[in-house]
Amino acid sequence: MTGRRPTARTPRALADAGLISPANLATAERVAAKYAVAVTPELIAAIDPNDTEDPIARQFLPDETELHVAPEELADPIGDQAHAPVKGIVHRYPDRVLLKPLHTCPVYCRFCFRRETVGPGGEALSDAELDIAIDYVRGRPEIFEVIVTGGDPLLLSPRRLARIVKALDAIPHVGVIRLHTRVPIADPRRLTVKCITALVTANTALYVAIHCNHVRELTPTARTCIRALTDAGIPLLAQTVLLRGVNDDAAALTALFRALARLKVKPYYLHHADLARGTAHFRTTIAEGQALMRALRGRLSGLCQPTYVLDIPGGFGKVPIGPCYLKQGADGGWIVEDFLGQQHEYPPLP
Ligand SMILES: *Cc1c(COP(=O)(O)O)cnc(C)c1O
Ligand code: SF4
Repeated sequence: MTGRRPTARTPRALADAGLISPANLATAERVAAKYAVAVTPELIAAIDPNDTEDPIARQFLPDETELHVAPEELADPIGDQAHAPVKGIVHRYPDRVLLKPLHTCPVYCRFCFRRETVGPGGEALSDAELDIAIDYVRGRPEIFEVIVTGGDPLLLSPRRLARIVKALDAIPHVGVIRLHTRVPIADPRRLTVKCITALVTANTALYVAIHCNHVRELTPTARTCIRALTDAGIPLLAQTVLLRGVNDDAAALTALFRALARLKVKPYYLHHADLARGTAHFRTTIAEGQALMRALRGRLSGLCQPTYVLDIPGGFGKVPIGPCYLKQGADGGWIVEDFLGQQHEYPPLP
């Protein structure tokens, strides 16, 4: 076995891998000074350097356009700070909280909604801080679900991960633990048997939600990693960010959602890209997103379809913003549109 190549964490390392041209190096360094850069060997190998529109390159290689901040863009686009009662917890909805034990990720997505807080400088919670965060959950019986995110919780050592999972599993009112991660895509070899063992629970249901935006991210190794999780009996969900130039066409989304369903991963959310700074080039309009969802309605089964959601800027939570197939008709009845665009009447109730 050969040793693993390291993750490229600087524009220079990306240039050495042939992914940034010498002419663009200085600009990429200016971008990297503002927002963290990391591309794992798994994803470097998945990039086609001859494809100027490669959907993986576009997600991970720093680009000059990130230096442009649009007036509507925000440092904290989804308002995490507005609902952080103790360090590492975001409590926005009554029945569920985010637990963020660390701020590092295996890769840094150029469109990241937490790009001002994630990065290699972002310290992890200490054991004492983690205990306070878990006490917060323990003391609130209304919390049914704990979403462990970050950063990426699968970067924790199996020992630390097991500690968190065990502590949450022991809280009687916690019914679901949900782990949000990019590791199965970005660094699938990291998910060892020890890591998977750390996810075993006795009382709660533990789900893993993987972040995946393009079918080409599902490399053979990523697929093996996903199968290891499903074989361990862990239900899997996927979250996808709608990204201009990456997956903003019906064919790309169809291929992705079918590939996920085939791997027993349920597409959960299609996120409208958040108003993070320097990411305008990734955002579609909401009308474009709705048109895509409409196109998918006829083409894909319900199992393969995520809900199109917007995280309302300011910390007001996520809402579905998919197209609406229903409008009010005459006399209290309704007009319903089918997937071909034809309209039908639905009678008012007597
Ligand atoms: C996204 C999010 C959740 C989870 O929302 P679901 O709709 O249940 O997936 C919970 N809390 C916060 C603060 C979030 O941003
Ligand atoms: S994996 Fe998630 S949190 Fe990490 S950089 Fe990408 S979008 Fe941001």
